[in-house]
Amino acid sequence: MNDTQTKPILVGYTRPELEALIASWEEKPFRARQLEKWIFEKAARRFEDMSDLSKLFRQKLQENALISPHEVIQTTTSSDGTTKFLIRLSDGQSVECVTIVQERRLTACVSSQVGCNVGCPFCATGLSGFRRNLTPAEIVDQFLLMQAAVNAGAFSEYTDNDRISNIVFMGMGEPLLNYDAVLKSIEILNRQVGIGIRRITISTSGVIPRIERLMQEPRDYSLAISLHSVNPSVRDELVPINKKYTVDELLKVTRRYTETTGRRVTFEYTMLEGYNSSLQDAEALAKAIKGIHCHVNLIAYNPVGSKFQAPPRAEILAFQNVLAQAGFPVTIRQNHGQDDMAACGQLRIQSAEIPLPTVI
Ligand code: SAH
Ligand code: SF4
Repeated sequence: MNDTQTKPILVGYTRPELEALIASWEEKPFRARQLEKWIFEKAARRFEDMSDLSKLFRQKLQENALISPHEVIQTTTSSDGTTKFLIRLSDGQSVECVTIVQERRLTACVSSQVGCNVGCPFCATGLSGFRRNLTPAEIVDQFLLMQAAVNAGAFSEYTDNDRISNIVFMGMGEPLLNYDAVLKSIEILNRQVGIGIRRITISTSGVIPRIERLMQEPRDYSLAISLHSVNPSVRDELVPINKKYTVDELLKVTRRYTETTGRRVTFEYTMLEGYNSSLQDAEALAKAIKGIHCHVNLIAYNPVGSKFQAPPRAEILAFQNVLAQAGFPVTIRQNHGQDDMAACGQLRIQSAEIPLPTVI
């Protein structure tokens, strides 16, 4: 058995778990807080860098625990600073995560699964199939590895911000199909890393029973719904989970979510020429979401080698205009880093074909 199988992996430990671990080593409780500061606030990667811990305690940590077994195996940066990281996990699988630079603010886009079995045909992750769920440690560590890159000055050319302030679960995988691990990772990211709960967004293709469960949780999570069409047969094709959890039911539960939590939801709408981007589609969308406390985010399709195409810019603007006229806040998401394969899942697919050198 190697260390990864036997030693506790600290990046996945909640505060109470860390306190219990420290107590089991018969160390003073304040040690847990010290350790937490280094691992989660400072994104330290080595015990030897934890300068205010005694040498003896550092030695004990070295022998009995692992900060993390994960490593960055490739990074790709586009002209606006947006950077994709490919991370190798302890079993040799890999996941992607992205640091997005937007108006000098840093947002971490993280994955929740290796692959995805929802199978949306315009999504690189969906096209690659499903491997497994990620653990809380693997989710939290994507953030910490990216924050460590920020600390090392990787983004200094693009922003003077030295902290990642927002997190979106918009990388690989369907977060609500890995519910417990995602919620535990959010607890760690919120309480130990210190990211405000309102700055953490879960994006879902529409797993209705899990949205209902989320509503029962004591905390009000920010939700983004990947809608893409309100036409049942079109959505059946674009988001196959629609055959089980229909768009009509999804809109009903989303409405209840906003009413129960008092939170505004985001509707994500990937624009696919000839499928969902006409003026009639915009009118149907405006009608279907009328009265829901929401914001609409239009995303131009990012080519991933599927049969789809992005509509011309003018068509996207006309679509936006219909929604704006109907009174909805509506933005067009910039395709950050398009020049470097921004759509989720692409880096991993490419890396499966070509052995890649270590960059960081
Ligand atoms: N599984 C979740 C979260 C990850 S995908 C979900 O589907 O919501 C995050 C967003 O990126 C989703 O809205 C998804 O539809 C969109 N997306 C996936 N592939 C895309 C592509 N090639 N171009 C544009 N948007 C894409
Ligand atoms: Fe899965 Fe989301 Fe991609 Fe659909 S868009 S296949 S739900 S990751």
